[in-house]
Amino acid sequence: MSKAKFTLLIDQDDVLAEYIQAVTNTYNQKYGAQISVDACTSWNLSTIFGEEVDTIMHDPALFRELEPTKDALEVFERLYKSDLFEMYIVTAAHPACVEAKFEWIRKHLPFFPEDRVIVCKRKYMVKGDFLLDDGMHNIEAFLENGGTPIIFERPHNKNQRKDIQRVRDWLSFERIIMETCYPEQMAVEIEDEAI
Ligand SMILES: [Mg+2]
Repeated sequence: MSKAKFTLLIDQDDVLAEYIQAVTNTYNQKYGAQISVDACTSWNLSTIFGEEVDTIMHDPALFRELEPTKDALEVFERLYKSDLFEMYIVTAAHPACVEAKFEWIRKHLPFFPEDRVIVCKRKYMVKGDFLLDDGMHNIEAFLENGGTPIIFERPHNKNQRKDIQRVRDWLSFERIIMETCYPEQMAVEIEDEAI
């Protein structure tokens, strides 16, 4: 029997796709405001924008048009096609936005099987070795349930839980996950680069 692969659970909003950036842009256009992404230091966006942000946050059209996070698509594809990991996208979604979120995945990650997309708010219930996520409630619950979370750094989680592994970008995630799971392979690659 072959050795089981490590299972990676990957969040969609603000990990694969630039969600808060889109909310901010849309809000600023609609209300003539000038709120920056860096100002979004709270998970609860209504404390920053006001209650009216709610209609923007759950608009399916917004989810369809999200920009991919820098290097996300390339690294995700590399990791998936390496065949070294079992990969799932695990995303909480407002019922009205589920179809739009699947459309985004179909458009940007067309090779990725849809039966590996899990729509789920309580992510700690999903079995996996690693969870890459920006939501601290997900990170902490996953940790408490025996998994290894990795924080994708965003302004709202920047000053929280410095004791948990975090990454600022996808290239760092790729390096850390390879070093952690396949240190022998990384050693060979570093040796090859040196030649
Ligand atoms: Mg997220």
